[in-house]
Amino acid sequence: MTGRVIVVGSVNVDLVARVDHLPATGETVGGATFERHPGGKGGNQAAAAARLGARVAFVGAIGADPLGEEARAALADEGIDLSALAVVDGPTGVALILVDRAGENVIAVAPGTNAGLTAGAVERALAALALGPGDVVVVGHEIATASTRAALAAGTAAGARTILNPAPADGIDRSLFRLVDILVPNRVELLQIAAADGRRSGRSPDPAAAPERLASTLLVSAADGPPIREAVVVTLGAAGAIVVRADHALLEAASPSVDAVDTVGAGDAFVGALAAGLADGNAIDGAVQRAVVAAALSTLRPGARGGLPTAAELEAAVRA
Ligand code: ADP
Repeated sequence: MTGRVIVVGSVNVDLVARVDHLPATGETVGGATFERHPGGKGGNQAAAAARLGARVAFVGAIGADPLGEEARAALADEGIDLSALAVVDGPTGVALILVDRAGENVIAVAPGTNAGLTAGAVERALAALALGPGDVVVVGHEIATASTRAALAAGTAAGARTILNPAPADGIDRSLFRLVDILVPNRVELLQIAAADGRRSGRSPDPAAAPERLASTLLVSAADGPPIREAVVVTLGAAGAIVVRADHALLEAASPSVDAVDTVGAGDAFVGALAAGLADGNAIDGAVQRAVVAAALSTLRPGARGGLPTAAELEAAVRA
């Protein structure tokens, strides 16, 4: 039997305005069209894995308000186990997103109840889900760092594979890395982590350094902290992704060329697909090669979850 994907992270409702161009500071851009989509990195990652046929449970928090119910219904529609979705005091998280004609975006997040997911609640939820070897625990950072740590520690203690998506990378506690099998940053997050390491050690990282070089520094023990245990997978937008493994092997996985409509959530589609592939027993390189295709497909329809492919759609695109 294949393992489960357990996602511990944020859930939001995305309020999206499509604009001709992104406004400069102080500028008002008129003529926008409005859309509302289920979102939050954790919710999106869970949906991405579920759409591909993985057994998925989501650990997170919503508020007792209409947006919370909307968020819950969207996750339930994907067939996700919501027994560990808490309802806590406060407003459900919201992301305000502007997308321009080229599909580029700017985003502001009001985390609301995502900030109310406590480490204790995460520990109780993961104990109730009875994690085990074969399960893949995907953890984000749009929740309190203590909750991120609790999830990674519980996954490690249970012998499950742990994936950390260090998003946002700001304030990531480097000591978390001893609990992480696979780190999946995008290019910006990788640079932020390298810059934070540089500030601590007095070295300044070269922002033009190749991502594989920056990634490889996170796989060796250093004064900055413990290393990532298995691999660093860096997503590179339209260019795809690279895998740098602790044994120094490097894989470059090119993304298929697509006419992207909406790249919001492409990274989440990637993380969910990677977790689904690993839970299904694939090796990391093969799982990444499928994840770049799944993420590229996800950009073809509006909304972070609108374009998430099914297993059959991914299979067809991989063969094409
Ligand atoms: P994030 O959404 O976190 O910024 P990236 O922009 O690196 O992450 O995108 C994640 C993945 O989505 C990439 O590895 C790639 O597979 C896919 N992707 C993103 N943008 C495009 C694009 N314009 N064309 C094709 N694939 C894309």
